[in-house]
Amino acid sequence: MRFCPRDGTLMVPQKKNNTTVLKCPKCGYEVKLTEKAREAYRQKSEVAEEKKRGVMVAEEKRIEYDKEEMEELRRQLLENLQESERESD
Ligand SMILES: [Zn+2]
Repeated sequence: MRFCPRDGTLMVPQKKNNTTVLKCPKCGYEVKLTEKAREAYRQKSEVAEEKKRGVMVAEEKRIEYDKEEMEELRRQLLENLQESERESD
């Protein structure tokens, strides 16, 4: 939301030709709502979405790592067991 720099009135979006402008209903001050501004807004929400996805991927990787770690631990335990059996011979 944008406010008029002249009188601080809330500017309202209006369609003008192919573009959207923000117009002050009080003094008629207009400012073009640029593609760039809209693009920035879009990218901002996409970044937030990307972050959310990144966290999920990290979470999946952690689970994967835990599984591998457990497997490694089990293998080592088994080896130790066999080793101690051999020692007792
Ligand atoms: Zn104004």
